[in-house]
Amino acid sequence: MQTKILINGEMVDGTGEALDVMNPATGEVIGAVNEAGSEQIEAAVRSSAEAFDSFAGMPPADRAAILLQIADILEEHSQELAELESLDVGKPWPSALDDEMPLTIDVFRFFAGAARAMTGSAAGEYVAGHTSMIRRDPVGPVAAIAPWNYPLMMASWKLAAPIAAGCPVVLKPSEITPLSTLRMAELLQDVLPKGVLNVIHGRGPTVGDALINSPQMEAISVTGSPATGMAAMRAASQQIRHVHLELGGKAPVIVFNDADLEAVAEAIRFGSYFNAGQDCAQPCRVMVAAKAYDKLVSAIEGQVSQIQIGAPKAEGTEMGPLVSLAQRDRVAGFVERARGAAEIVTGGAEGDGQGFFYQPTVIANVDNNAEVACKEVFGPVVTVSRFSDADDALSIANSGSYGLASSVWTRDVGRAMQMTSKLRYGFTWVNTHGVATPEMPWAAMKGSGTGSDMSVYALDAYTAIRHVMVAH
Ligand code: NAD
Repeated sequence: MQTKILINGEMVDGTGEALDVMNPATGEVIGAVNEAGSEQIEAAVRSSAEAFDSFAGMPPADRAAILLQIADILEEHSQELAELESLDVGKPWPSALDDEMPLTIDVFRFFAGAARAMTGSAAGEYVAGHTSMIRRDPVGPVAAIAPWNYPLMMASWKLAAPIAAGCPVVLKPSEITPLSTLRMAELLQDVLPKGVLNVIHGRGPTVGDALINSPQMEAISVTGSPATGMAAMRAASQQIRHVHLELGGKAPVIVFNDADLEAVAEAIRFGSYFNAGQDCAQPCRVMVAAKAYDKLVSAIEGQVSQIQIGAPKAEGTEMGPLVSLAQRDRVAGFVERARGAAEIVTGGAEGDGQGFFYQPTVIANVDNNAEVACKEVFGPVVTVSRFSDADDALSIANSGSYGLASSVWTRDVGRAMQMTSKLRYGFTWVNTHGVATPEMPWAAMKGSGTGSDMSVYALDAYTAIRHVMVAH
């Protein structure tokens, strides 16, 4: 198990406190990783700042070649990296390999192309005797903070776009799930120029806080909870920094009477319980028109009650444990508080064994204002509630604080277009939910963040628009 951090091109042991790493499927400690000491955080930040000038000046074709090389290395080691991810997060095997690694790798390949296609938008004579041009230049060293639900995939989203743009990155993975990112750091140690990637380890309020508040970091990029997003905005406000935030979600699944209800139930089974529901785009808030309600609840129950939970490598496991005891307690708390006022259709209890298992749970007859319908549970829990008509559905869906993912289910194209134009979410799927591709933005609105990951729009967070004018 690789437990060293990457500082200024060297793999070194952290000089801070040792933090246990758990196997969530057994509840056992499987290792420990030392946090970065404060002098190491400073060294990482300094190294990143020193690398900026030469990396920013590297021709795009050379940055693209590096990104392609990273993709090849990750592909070559995908079995090993997926093993670490499955062990650390409790992800079912082979889903960790087959579902997550391809997108993790492809993001680097997409940004290799994007690095060479970045443009300023205009050049010309806007004032007589002067030529103006618009440049799009790298913004500076980036402090990147990643969460625990898809550690390596989120690290890839945090790295590929700034590298394409010409920005060095100091990356901090979640203290709960550092293993795959630390191994990636080792694999990339000699691929990236010294200082372009530094990887530190440690808790958010100490190590993460020192990183995002460092004066040498010129952009902050966070994927995590709204509380961490707020901490990033506070830090950025002290020094006027670019901030890019991908935060929590509470995705409505809006189902009209004419929808294919079996398709909705299947999407719930395979989407809502994927990664044990620990997914910011999780289709978790099913809202149904009156006539379809009973039929849909029973179709969802039929699908969800078949989900096999178990150890990641046990035969037939579809859903593993939650990432930690604290996360399981949090999820159980939501269900207990909802129990009196709603109907637990299936699940609603811990799973067997020493690991942090929780049963796939469906709660029906949920009031649209109930806590469990409005707050992010981030676990294997789906609520089902009713709406009266399209306007009612829009008003319920748009009244929450989140604005990340949403979906609309109907055979009526006109209604689908009306709904998609009015939903205030960074992305809306029609008759599907959860399909992602690097060409398209993973975009956030409202309390779910600012800007987007993936797609050419991700480059906006890591580039500055500049005007150069030449008198002649
Ligand atoms: P978290 O906010 O607790 O932790 C995320 C990261 O932030 C960790 O690395 C943590 O150490 C760090 N952190 C915490 N406090 C900090 C501080 N004060 N300063 C600097 N860094 C700090 O989130 P989590 O529990 O790891 O992840 C779950 C959350 O992430 C959910 O809300 C989920 O919806 C969200 N998420 C969003 C997306 C997206 O694309 N929008 C993707 C995955 C996860």
